[in-house]
Amino acid sequence: MNLELSEEQTAVRRLAEDFVQREIAPHVVDWDRAENVDRSIVRKLGALGFLGLTVPEEYGGSGGDHLAYCLVTEELGRGDSSVRGIVSVSLGLVAKTIAAWGDEEQKRHWLPRLTAGEALGCFGLTEPGTGSDAGNLTTRAVRDGGDYVVNGTKMFITNGTWADVVLLFARTNDTPGHRGVSAFLIPTDTPGLTRRTIHGKLGLRGQATAELVLEDVRVPASALMGPEGKGFSIAMSALAKGRMSVAAGCVGIAQAALDAAVRYAGEREQFGKPIASYQLVQELISDISVDVDAARLLTWRVADLVDRGEDFATAASKAKLFASEAAVRSANNALQVYGGYGYIDEYPVGKLLRDARVMTLYEGTSQIQKLIIGRALTGVSAF
Ligand SMILES: Cc1cc2nc3c(=O)[nH]c(=O)nc-3n(C[C@H](O)[C@H](O)[C@H](O)COP(=O)(O)OP(=O)(O)OC[C@H]3O[C@@H](n4cnc5c(N)ncnc54)[C@H](O)[C@@H]3O)c2cc1C
Repeated sequence: MNLELSEEQTAVRRLAEDFVQREIAPHVVDWDRAENVDRSIVRKLGALGFLGLTVPEEYGGSGGDHLAYCLVTEELGRGDSSVRGIVSVSLGLVAKTIAAWGDEEQKRHWLPRLTAGEALGCFGLTEPGTGSDAGNLTTRAVRDGGDYVVNGTKMFITNGTWADVVLLFARTNDTPGHRGVSAFLIPTDTPGLTRRTIHGKLGLRGQATAELVLEDVRVPASALMGPEGKGFSIAMSALAKGRMSVAAGCVGIAQAALDAAVRYAGEREQFGKPIASYQLVQELISDISVDVDAARLLTWRVADLVDRGEDFATAASKAKLFASEAAVRSANNALQVYGGYGYIDEYPVGKLLRDARVMTLYEGTSQIQKLIIGRALTGVSAF
């Protein structure tokens, strides 16, 4: 694995860095307080090609390799995890899954719009009663002539109220567990589909997280994506790559914590000297720095494996597990460096900690990542 970035990768990283400085950084505090990222950001992300990275150019994608994708997600995560999540879900979980599993008509219909930011995607797997145990989901899609009729509730859906299409997982037969699950592409304006914004989140406050309720939602059979009964494999393959992008976003959070801690420690004086001169403060900063490097290297390894067509699922779980825990630790250490000011939202580190906290929960909790890694090592499944 070559750790030196190519000219293209360096250029795309710089583009993302400039974009964050210009379009995100000035608004972060306001969006967080208002619980609302300005929706115009979606078109802007699309215009720069950030919603089409790694999607083939023939479907409107901007091409690029997975390391470039990680560099962009890291920079967005460094700026605002709420914005990073929009990309990780619409591109990482939805568009890339359509590119991998959709038929020609589904690709031609959805991908050019999703990659341009003219449409947004959301990923509907979790339900009120099934989170980690997603294979036992209860939303049902019943065949009725040339249609399916879908009933059920999806919980905690990122982009939920903004999305134009939901990649939805529903049970199409009575086989218990994951074998009865199929994947559907359902436009969110289909009659019978209603959405409710979930307010009061600890972090990612700017993000449109929603509950989706489907009552007799009728869709044509052409909404089925991939073979009937393959939905759980489709969801798991999407999440394996999704974990790489969450890990990259976490590197961004940890890097932002490091930047903030170093800056503040140099400015703040106590006992007549900058607090950076105290060894216990340096220890906090040094711990963050080691976490940043380790999380970034684990994440880049996943990108390298994906780009070389190697098996990457366990490496992605390791990267997501470490980077998410590292992001929480780093933001917490940075808050310690800030003292009481870190507790106030005029300063950046409190938001970093609130945003980081969900990273150990979604796309598989830390416990679930450990079970996936344990299964790969022992050959025995705990699920
Ligand atoms: C802000 C946010 C955005 C989200 N976005 C999406 C989205 O876009 N799409 C989507 O489908 N979902 C989304 N989710 C849902 C997320 O993926 C789930 O919350 C997550 O999978 C955990 O499920 P749960 O909340 O039901 O917790 P549970 O599964 O009930 O877990 C509770 C606790 O039990 C532990 N646990 C469970 N099973 C085991 C086991 N076998 N062994 C050991 N420990 C176990 C867990 O690790 C956890 O600590 C989002 C969640 C949040 C908070």
